[in-house]
Amino acid sequence: MNKRCSCGHDMDITLRTVVHARTIEIHHVPVYTCAECDYSELLPELKQEVIQLMKKMMQEERTGKMSAYFDDVNEVASVLKECVDAGGWHLDELFQQIGEERVNHLLDLYLMAKTWNDKEWMCDIQRRLKQISGFRTETYRVKIS
Ligand SMILES: [Zn+2]
Repeated sequence: MNKRCSCGHDMDITLRTVVHARTIEIHHVPVYTCAECDYSELLPELKQEVIQLMKKMMQEERTGKMSAYFDDVNEVASVLKECVDAGGWHLDELFQQIGEERVNHLLDLYLMAKTWNDKEWMCDIQRRLKQISGFRTETYRVKIS
């Protein structure tokens, strides 16, 4: 998960608020930041999803400020949020541990959704499992039937 900044320093993952056109605010977006030169960058794996969420918000015909929490719609952000809240310094280990718990939890929910034959819920859980397994393919091999 570590990334090196072009200035040579290691970057940290932090959760930031991303603002677009001064009207859209998305909170808890994971970004790589460099404490040395102040450079920051969205996690490339999550970039598309952040853009999609922005587009969706822009389509809503509302005036004034809009805000959303990225960790509500994205499991990777949600797990990272939990890691940050836990205050651990070993983000990799923590992410693996909390991520595994999350996958198990989602699989439990999936079984429940399947029992109730709630197709919409099943789709949502599948989407969330995909997000988290896609982020660390080497760690999570998720199988759903
Ligand atoms: Zn730097």
